[in-house]
Parts: sequence; structure tokens; C-alpha cells
Amino acid sequence: MKTCLVVDDSKVIRKVARHILETLDFNVSEAADGSEALDQCSRAMPDVVLLDWNMPVMSGMEFLCALRTVEGGSKPKVVFCTTENGRGHIQAAIEAGADEYVMKPFDRETLHSKLQIVGCA
Ligand SMILES: [Mg+2]
Repeated sequence: MKTCLVVDDSKVIRKVARHILETLDFNVSEAADGSEALDQCSRAMPDVVLLDWNMPVMSGMEFLCALRTVEGGSKPKVVFCTTENGRGHIQAAIEAGADEYVMKPFDRETLHSKLQIVGCA
């Protein structure tokens, strides 16, 4: 079973993402900010990270930059989640090491296709 870490400060979004990912046969864990996510990754690297941009404590971008420097941190595929307003962030996220992006709100089909693109579904 593939593992996915959902990183988002919104409990509702984590819950929706978890539900979708479980129907796609992922083993899901959650983190509410980048710092929590880094802690979890240092214990076990997930196969894929679904990453929010705006979060307190440590943003998605800060997490991504930190992840890519730690041992084993180049392994997880990172799908960065953004809103229509955050379109400008996409290029920066890809340059920082994100593999794909998905626009919020996302549905099952969209998320599934993005996970297929990164080779995780
Ligand atoms: Mg957020």
C-alpha cells in the first residue's frame, strides 16, 4: 500500500483528502503544518505528499525546501495544492522541487490523475 502525507492547516481539507485517498488505496497520515510534516517525514518518508501552500508555523514552500535537503527527502513525490489566487506560486513550487500541482477544490478524478502523473497511483 502506498503512503500519502496530507499537509494542510484546514481540518476539513485534510478530511476530504483523506477520504479520497483512502478510496484510491492509500495509507494516509496528516500534518497541520510544515513543521509537523517534517517531523513525520524524518520518522518515515511517505511515497507522496499532498502539500498546502499557506499554513501557520511553516509554510508549504518552507517545508518543501527543507524536505529536499534532508536524507531521503528527494524520494517523496510532492503534489502542491493551490487556489486560483495562488496560480503565481506554481512556477516557484516546481522550481523548489514540487512534482505536480492541483487546484483547490479538487475532486477524486483530478487528484487521481495527478497521482498517476507522478507515478503513485
Ligand atoms: Mg492553508
